[in-house]
Amino acid sequence: MLLLPEDIKQVSASELQIRWQDGHLSKYNLDHLRRECPCAICKGEVILWKSYAPVKKENETPEMFILKSVQMVGNYALQIGWNDGHNTGLYTWDNLRSLCQCNECGNTK
Ligand SMILES: [Zn+2]
Ligand SMILES: [Zn+2]
Repeated sequence: MLLLPEDIKQVSASELQIRWQDGHLSKYNLDHLRRECPCAICKGEVILWKSYAPVKKENETPEMFILKSVQMVGNYALQIGWNDGHNTGLYTWDNLRSLCQCNECGNTK
């Protein structure tokens, strides 16, 4: 069964919260989400069985971790835009569930 989020909201300057259809309440620190950005620029990509390393990491700035926009993409992912203009990250629901930082899931990196 595909789990969908019922409610997505930013609860503080540094925290996003997602309530899922199964009642699970996920919490995310924005810096955690940004560092886990799944886009090709951040994570590299695999083209024709050859993997390309991510583009050189730029220096981190505070803007990187400020949430600018959150948009549903179809019914499979969330597109998150950041204040430094980066908005190519598509976070699928599966991905978001596995990144959850609530006490139960405990992804405290
Ligand atoms: Zn990215
Ligand atoms: Zn959780």
